[in-house]
Amino acid sequence: MPRSALREPPPGFDSAAIAVLPLVERDWPVTALALDVSGRCNLACRYCAEAATQPARRTAMTWQTMAAALSLLDTESRGGLAPTLRLGSGEPLLALPLLRQLDERLRQDRACGKTVPRVYLTTNGTRVDKQVANWLVDTGWQVKISLDGPRAIHDRWRVGARGKGTWKQVSAAVQLLAERMPERLSVTAVMCRDSDPAAVFAAIEALGVRRIELVPVAHGDADIMPNDDDLSRYAAFVTAWVDRLVAKPLQRPQAQPIRLVGSVRRVMGYDVKRVVCGAGRNFFGVDASGNVFPCFRFIGMSEYGLGDLANHASSDLTARFRAGAGRALEARRACSTCWAAMLCGGPCFACSEMFGPGGGEPLPTHCDYTLADAHAAVRLVNALRQNHPQALLYFLPEGVLA
Ligand code: SF4
Ligand code: SF4
Repeated sequence: MPRSALREPPPGFDSAAIAVLPLVERDWPVTALALDVSGRCNLACRYCAEAATQPARRTAMTWQTMAAALSLLDTESRGGLAPTLRLGSGEPLLALPLLRQLDERLRQDRACGKTVPRVYLTTNGTRVDKQVANWLVDTGWQVKISLDGPRAIHDRWRVGARGKGTWKQVSAAVQLLAERMPERLSVTAVMCRDSDPAAVFAAIEALGVRRIELVPVAHGDADIMPNDDDLSRYAAFVTAWVDRLVAKPLQRPQAQPIRLVGSVRRVMGYDVKRVVCGAGRNFFGVDASGNVFPCFRFIGMSEYGLGDLANHASSDLTARFRAGAGRALEARRACSTCWAAMLCGGPCFACSEMFGPGGGEPLPTHCDYTLADAHAAVRLVNALRQNHPQALLYFLPEGVLA
């Protein structure tokens, strides 16, 4: 599907049917924190955006900082959301003793009847041996591993400090965790120039992974960014995935493309928002020294700093972020006229700030991928509503039927 066709809504789509009320700013409870626990990474991925913005030398987080962050989380769930803790940014498993301490503390809190956050750990997978895998299985945490697909694609981008590919260790880690905790594992693959989405998805699915996120890269080098051919391949991939389901609606695919599934849910009216995420509202990123930023991606960029753990949420800086880089989609020119705005939520604040054309506008390449998902999602939901509405249950968010 050409880019121009993606910019038009598919037949029969009514955005007003799923529109939500404008976002009203308030005193947001902090229900999610992202912690840069290790303060460093052991890889040198060729497209890494964070390497360009984060200080090269950072110290690991101390337990005092971790404990201060935990006390900031709203465990009363005033926002109606279960609190969450995200561990990542650098490679969190480089801070394994601290993570084990965290696990121990959460177990103790749980045993005392306290509400404890759900933990999501994002790792590059190079530090997951059998012992670490056993421990991760035991923690109950959600784990996301970054793997860019088959060896030829992954090793082109995800390399160690000496330029050596990491596919062998990472794919072994993925396979190990896919066997042991399939429901709690997801894989993210970054889509760069010439990354064939069908090949990437198939290679990750073959390792036993059920949830696969294909994310277009954000980078200042135009040669790294996907081009028109890559976009066409992506649109063909999501179309083919939808076609298979329309043809055999009761046959559940083994693996889900997470972003497409998110779009399907929003077509069904779930999780529709006017901001892409809660960064700078109910969600903050904390660097290893305890400095607060809107999320991981802003860590190290002093112009986006929001103070420290002791005094951030009420600060003028936070309010300024919400009105500026973190503004809702209707305050962005491209989004205010976009047919898929309610299926998108607007751009990633960080990508828009660091790689967008300016003025809070989104990266056109990212919009293209979102619109390809949105087209496929609308077609899928319309077809299933007409012929097999029960097949839509497969897409309901967790807990809806509980
Ligand atoms: S970020 Fe792009 S796809 Fe999303 S609403 Fe804005 S213009 Fe549309
Ligand atoms: S601003 Fe972007 S990177 Fe940060 S949490 Fe939101 S979507 Fe993720």
